[in-house]
Amino acid sequence: MSRFSTLNADLHCHSVVSDGTLTPEQLAERAKANGVHLWALTDHDELGGQQRARLAANALKMDYLAGVEISVTWMGQTIHIVGLGVDADHVGILEGLRRTREGRGNRAKLMAEQLLQVGIPGAYEGALHFAGNHDLISRTHFARFLVEQGVCRDTEQVFKNYLVEDKPGFVPHRWATLDDAVTWITAAGGVAVIAHPGRYKLNAMQMDELFKHFKDIGGLAIEVITGSHSPEQYLTYGKIAQQYGFLASRGSDFHDPNESHIDLGRLPHLPDHLTPVWSAFH
Ligand code: AMP
Ligand code: MN
Ligand code: MN
Ligand code: MN
Repeated sequence: MSRFSTLNADLHCHSVVSDGTLTPEQLAERAKANGVHLWALTDHDELGGQQRARLAANALKMDYLAGVEISVTWMGQTIHIVGLGVDADHVGILEGLRRTREGRGNRAKLMAEQLLQVGIPGAYEGALHFAGNHDLISRTHFARFLVEQGVCRDTEQVFKNYLVEDKPGFVPHRWATLDDAVTWITAAGGVAVIAHPGRYKLNAMQMDELFKHFKDIGGLAIEVITGSHSPEQYLTYGKIAQQYGFLASRGSDFHDPNESHIDLGRLPHLPDHLTPVWSAFH
């Protein structure tokens, strides 16, 4: 696989198997149309779309890495760890992800109860209606329901006024541990990547601890160019990658043509002084 930083790689996106709105096949076609050469589908806590994504990528002559985005609780915060190049049939990761998904149904019912208390009935059924995979009901599906109901203009407004800490519909949840997530990914032959580090509400000391601990347990990369980062954050996390010796990843985090700010493959290139995460795959 190419070692060049200018490769159009998009190594983070979501399908109907988690909280995206396109099928793996539709995503593959969209990625191809946007000039992507190396693609990974990284559904939340779920590898169920991998075979379809790989087949579609192969048919379109795109290189493909099996991927996943694992929900983790670390220092009381939710952080996301992307796994790239995993064996999607590996029993250890499949079992770990199954357990990680387990609490989602109950959490969704508790979220709906809270929304009912602020005068929004039917949110559980409403959100479930948007979920392509009933094992993976997420806040995104609730957000789409609230937009459909006219409670908010768009999903961005939802995540400002609902479903987040101190707002109606927020239910704290304990996801996988960081150590477990990295272990599952590594044991399945993949590379662990900290997703969108710029999004976490951690102070500088906590971030330092996160990067050091992640590295200690075998984490190899961080996302530098992502749809969740500002241009200023591209620079910040490029420096972090160099400072801690991480490989650098690039991914749009595309979910939906109307919701997502950045389309598949339509991101700035990785800065050429960084070592791309795809250099780890041959
Ligand atoms: P969950 O895994 O159920 O907690 O849902 C997390 C998902 O909600 C993320 O993967 C995003 O797709 C979406 N999300 C979280 N925060 C925001 C936000 N501020 N704006 C838009 N989408 C968000
Ligand atoms: Mn998502
Ligand atoms: Mn994420
Ligand atoms: Mn994502």
